Amino acid sequence: MKKNVDTISKLIKQEISNYKKKVDTSNVGSVVSVGDGICTIYGLDKAMYGELLSFPHDIYGMVMNLNEDSIGAVILGKENEVYEGDQVKRTNRVVSVGVGEELLGRVVSSLGVPLDGLGPIKYQRQDPIEQGAPSIMDREAVNSPLETGIKAIDSMIPIGKGQRELIIGDRQTGKTAIAIDTIINQKGKDVICVYCAIGQKNSSVAQLVTKLKENDSMKYTIVVNASASEPAPMQYVAPYAATTMAEYFSNKGKDVLIIYDDLSKHAVAYRTLSLLLKRAPGREAFPGDIFYLHSRLLERACHLNKTRGGGSLTALPIVETQAGDITSYIPTNVISITDGQIFLSSDLFNSGQRPAIDSGLSVSRVGSAAQIKAMKKIAASIKIQLASYQELLDFSRFGSDLDASTKAILDHGAILMETLKQRQYSPLSMAEQIVDIYIAQSKLIDDVEPNKVDALLSNIRAYIKSKEPKIFEVINKTKEFPDDVKKKIDSIIGKIKEKKD
Ligand code: ATP
Ligand code: MG
Repeated sequence: MKKNVDTISKLIKQEISNYKKKVDTSNVGSVVSVGDGICTIYGLDKAMYGELLSFPHDIYGMVMNLNEDSIGAVILGKENEVYEGDQVKRTNRVVSVGVGEELLGRVVSSLGVPLDGLGPIKYQRQDPIEQGAPSIMDREAVNSPLETGIKAIDSMIPIGKGQRELIIGDRQTGKTAIAIDTIINQKGKDVICVYCAIGQKNSSVAQLVTKLKENDSMKYTIVVNASASEPAPMQYVAPYAATTMAEYFSNKGKDVLIIYDDLSKHAVAYRTLSLLLKRAPGREAFPGDIFYLHSRLLERACHLNKTRGGGSLTALPIVETQAGDITSYIPTNVISITDGQIFLSSDLFNSGQRPAIDSGLSVSRVGSAAQIKAMKKIAASIKIQLASYQELLDFSRFGSDLDASTKAILDHGAILMETLKQRQYSPLSMAEQIVDIYIAQSKLIDDVEPNKVDALLSNIRAYIKSKEPKIFEVINKTKEFPDDVKKKIDSIIGKIKEKKD
């Protein structure tokens, strides 16, 4: 406190002696107070919102508040090395990060500093972390699928390149697992992936990177990590910086997938900043511009048209709910910004249904336009069948006397649920998924015990791979599912089922 008073009185004395002298404080200022990663600066009259400020000892900050007689800034980096009275200079540029191919396979901080011990990165170019979203004229409709390799998603909630699909659910329901499987499935598909971890434990990010390496997926992936131990400003900046790194590729005509894990923690970091900057709190103590925080981020995802290179940026933001409540503030905001959501339910997860996708609450608003024909045909009725299965399941618990048609719906529903189960780190190709779903929908296996479905399906898959590899090749290549292939599969089902019995 004493020091604070000293600084202010020094400034006043300076002002008095400079009265009429007209000193230029537009480009240089001094720190009046500092704490919790936030500092108030006197001077810098001409500073811009979002401008990078230079503190002594190579520390940087970003302008967040433009008050009449002072500046509110966040410190990006070591906040405990900034002191009251320190001189602050303008840099005349907004906060930027290094971008380029060099980033592939690396783990970096929100400012592009390597965290993986693999040596420094020589950036050829720096781009501002905040960019305007491409205009409507620059965009094209979403028209090609981004395959996740997960049966439940590619069949019922298909995602298209350039789409924004929210992954939402309580803690520990397999949200990150879906994102990682999607990255693994992009192997050999010429898609660049960016995984942005916000407020996660360093150990979980390290584990995830190990898994990606094991699956040979780091080659085309960038990991941006602003862990829970980083100060709030670094967590706030992370998704914007990661998007800038991703846009370097999408602007060059590449397909890019970006995952924000997760935006609830991002919102909390921003709330912390705003409250420390003394902005007025609103609902759930979040500041008034919290919607803009995520809308300006997710608007950057798009499918660019041919004149802009035809690249795409697909965004999979993750949001964590409390006790399945999707009507609280941040979830409703992000649901309304995105083009659909994949809702993960802890009840399903705990009952062993993994991925625990709630087909009733999940939707993809633009992806079905991008779904391949063969899959669209075969998967058209799954959602309705599952809905009537769930309804009857609740009902059937009351009594044991079921008529034949009800029993048929229940049996088939149980087989479908089993078919949609899938282990982690084992994405399937589109053809494999189509065959699995065809088998379930053919009703030829409705008499199989549900707990044997998984084994049966993988036996059939193995059989096709070794004896009839053409089946998968034809579907993958032509994107069609002709009748003669169906017949062949029917006979294979018969053979494998007989073997079992
Ligand atoms: P958090 O809220 O902690 O971020 P999360 O929702 O991201 O959790 P994950 O970490 O992805 O959830 O998964 C939680 C646990 O469930 C992990 O132990 C993971 O291995 C397991 N799990 C996720 N998906 C599957 C799956 N399809 N099959 C089997 N286990 C799974
Ligand atoms: Mg997670």
